[in-house]
Amino acid sequence: MKLILLGAPGAGKGTVAKMLTAIDGSVQISTGDILRAAVAAGTELGKQAEAAMKAGDLVSDDLIMGIMEERLQEDDCQSGYLLDGFPRTIPQAEALKALLAKMGEQLDCAVNIDVPREVILDRLTTRRTCTDCGAIYNVKSNPTKVEGVCDACGGSVVQRDDETEEAISNRLDVYNEKTAPLADFYDNEGMLLTVNATSSEAVIDAIKGKLGM
Ligand code: AMP
Repeated sequence: MKLILLGAPGAGKGTVAKMLTAIDGSVQISTGDILRAAVAAGTELGKQAEAAMKAGDLVSDDLIMGIMEERLQEDDCQSGYLLDGFPRTIPQAEALKALLAKMGEQLDCAVNIDVPREVILDRLTTRRTCTDCGAIYNVKSNPTKVEGVCDACGGSVVQRDDETEEAISNRLDVYNEKTAPLADFYDNEGMLLTVNATSSEAVIDAIKGKLGM
């Protein structure tokens, strides 16, 4: 399947994407993961993105489109892809539309995972992420077996730099201003599936229903 996963930070896009990869071998493409890996590796891309990320601001559309133009042409995309955290602005959505048209590709739908703000805030402050494989944990609802150690890969599980209260609040404001309008954009394209659900399983069921799986 070829999907866009929309939703505020903490709506569960990453968790849903990981569950969907197991269904049909589609790959999860998370621009946030790509950028965090670049920051950790100290690459030029990482240096350009680091300050904006730490503050909870968006990195530039040009930087993101450069990454995605290359990424979407890699071989593993043949089996489908789940775009997690991209697009995040109207210009990115327009650029993606042009890129896909150029590539002769069509998306199945854009899934908007709509979760109440208080659930989001609670999740983001209690979320922990593996710095090696990106696995997502929660200190309350889904802790690692050994504190700070990833169950899946043994990597180090930490709170993200942009999960301080200040950065979270900024990320939610940025989401409302820049990314929430994408729901209307994809509605106008006739591609929108909105799911009001706090459980990832319910989101998966709604997607399967929509795609007739
Ligand atoms: P995420 O893991 O998706 O929450 O992304 C973490 C951070 O990476 C965001 O707060 C932004 O600073 C940056 N980022 C990720 N994806 C994008 C994107 N599509 N456009 C702009 N910035 C992004």
